[in-house]
Amino acid sequence: MPPKSQTFQLAQLVKLQAIRLQIGRFEQSFKAIPEEIATIESNAHRYGEEIEQNKKLEQSINSQYRSYENEIQDRNNKLAQYQNQLWAVKTNIEYAALLKQIDTLKGMNEITNDQIFHLEEEKEQLLIHRVEKEKAFEEVKAANEKRVEELELKLKKAQKELDVLRQKEQRIAARIPQQLISRFKKIAEAREGIAVVSANGGICNGCFTSIRPQVYDKIRQGGTIVQCESCSRILFFDVSRESGQSS
Ligand SMILES: [Zn+2]
Repeated sequence: MPPKSQTFQLAQLVKLQAIRLQIGRFEQSFKAIPEEIATIESNAHRYGEEIEQNKKLEQSINSQYRSYENEIQDRNNKLAQYQNQLWAVKTNIEYAALLKQIDTLKGMNEITNDQIFHLEEEKEQLLIHRVEKEKAFEEVKAANEKRVEELELKLKKAQKELDVLRQKEQRIAARIPQQLISRFKKIAEAREGIAVVSANGGICNGCFTSIRPQVYDKIRQGGTIVQCESCSRILFFDVSRESGQSS
């Protein structure tokens, strides 16, 4: 009859491993939540930036618009001046030259008026675009708030569940000698969390190496903590896997 305590400890180690793996998977599953919240916030930030860019473009068009208006005003002043001078002109040549200058200024004003017309169209498009963006932004913000609220609630719930799992882990760990837990943790760290494996069929089910018959016998008797000579994992004989088979 094997010493019960060792068999019991091995069974507890198997349980401990299972719960630690469960905790690991669980933590992994909600690790994504803070990342999702950050993504949502950065998307909202992008909306804000696009709106700001739109506003800057509108400002630059406004200033261009004002400078065109000033150009026209300057030319109109000059035109009024030339019109007055027409009365005082003495020769036909001077008269013709003045008329030519008047025509040139009027032509330039026409071009500038065309440019102003295009700017007005552009301004209008930008305004429509910005109003649409602002409206969409408001909608996105409202949706984001709801989603972030949901995610935060989920995170809170997950934290509670995690606390329960951790308590369970502690309860199991309390049944195992500290030294064995340290050994278990060391192996688990090196072997992706799998520190205890079954040895049924004479092979280590961690690294699939054959176990020497004397060692396998020891494992089957269940009285001692045996580690795989190849991968160092702790080996146990899984009785449930042998049911219905003759040994
Ligand atoms: Zn092994």
